[in-house]
Amino acid sequence: MAPAATVTDHTQLADSRGRPLRDLRISVTDRCNFRCTYCMPKEVYGRDFQFLERSQLLTFDEIDRLVRVFRGFGIEKVRVTGGEPLVRRQLEKLIELLARQQGLDLTLTTNGSLLRQKARELKNAGLQRITVSLDSLDDTVFRSMNDVDFPVARVLEGIEEAERVGLKPVKVNMVVERGVNDDSVLDMCRFFRQTGHILRFIEFMDVGSTNGWRMDRVVPSRELVERIGTVFPIEPLEANYRGEVAERWRYRDGGGEIGFISSVTQAFCRDCTRARLSAEGQLYTCLFATGGTDLRAPLRAGASDDELATIVARTWRARGDRYSEIRTAETAKLQKVEMSYIGG
Ligand code: SAM
Repeated sequence: MAPAATVTDHTQLADSRGRPLRDLRISVTDRCNFRCTYCMPKEVYGRDFQFLERSQLLTFDEIDRLVRVFRGFGIEKVRVTGGEPLVRRQLEKLIELLARQQGLDLTLTTNGSLLRQKARELKNAGLQRITVSLDSLDDTVFRSMNDVDFPVARVLEGIEEAERVGLKPVKVNMVVERGVNDDSVLDMCRFFRQTGHILRFIEFMDVGSTNGWRMDRVVPSRELVERIGTVFPIEPLEANYRGEVAERWRYRDGGGEIGFISSVTQAFCRDCTRARLSAEGQLYTCLFATGGTDLRAPLRAGASDDELATIVARTWRARGDRYSEIRTAETAKLQKVEMSYIGG
C-alpha cells in the first residue's frame, strides 16, 4: 500500500486529467460598482441583492495564509480579482502581505474606475502588473454596457496612471458581444497599438446563469483575427508558457502585441491549471463550476496548514472539469456560480 501523502508529496499534485495546480485567482469581494450587462445585470444585482457580509469575507491574513498553503503545491501566479477588487477597503494591505511572499507573480484585474486614485499605492505595496477591463472607447456603448453611466475617460486615466507608476505591461481586456460592442474592436486596436499595452479580446462566455448568454452573441476569435488582420496585418506568437489563457498575436509593423481568449470556440481546458478562491473562502476548480469546497470553515476552526493542504490536494486530485469542451446550449442553463462571486 502507498504511504499516506504528506505536504511535500503535494508538490507533485495533479488532477484526474494530469493537470498540475499552478495559478490561483482570488476574489476579494463579490461587490462591484459596475453592473455590466454580461456579468452583473441590474435586474439580478439590484438594490435588494444580498451580497456577502463583511464577516463572511476572508480577512487579508486568512488569504495570505491560504496562499502560502497553495504555494506548497507550486503555485507561481496569483491574480487578485472580484467583484471589483478595488472596492475592497485597504486592498493595498493585502497586496503588501502577498508581495512579501518571495517569487510570486502577483497581478490584479480591475474595471479601472478607481485606478487613477489607487495605482500608486498598489505599486508601492508590491503589485507588479495589472489588467484593466474596457469594452469600448465609444462612450455611449461603454456607459450602456457598464450600466452605471461610467465614462470611458476615467478608465483611460486609470490606465495612464498605472503605466506612469510602472504597473507594466498593462493588459486591457475587452469582452466582445455581437451586436453590442463588436463595432468597437478596430477602434480599440487603433487606440492601443504602439502604446505597449496588450489588448485582449475575450469571447462572451456563459458564466453563471444570469447573463442571458446565447451562442449567436459570441464573436469567435477566428472572426476577429480576420477582421483585425485586414486592417492591421497580424501574425501569431509563441505562447509564453503551457496553459496560457490568451493566444498571442502581434502587429506585423511592430505596433505591439494583442491576444485572444477563446474559451467558447477553442476551449483550453486541457491545459487549465487554475484554481479559484471565492471571497468567502470556497475553492472552485473551474470557472463554470456549480459547487466549491469550503476552506474558511476549517481555517476558522483552527485547521493546521497541513490539514488545509490535505483538503486542497483532495479537491484538486478529484478535479475532472472540462466544461468549455463539453459546452452545449443545455449546459449553459446549469446553475453555475456567478463570475462576480468566483472572480474572473
Ligand atoms: N471587476 C473586475 C473587472 O472588471 O475586471 C474584475 C472581475 S471581472 C468578473 C473579470 C473579467 O471577467 C472582466 O474582464 C470581465 O469583463 C470578464 N467577464 C465578466 N463576465 C464575462 C462574460 N460573461 N464573458 C466573458 N468575460 C466576462
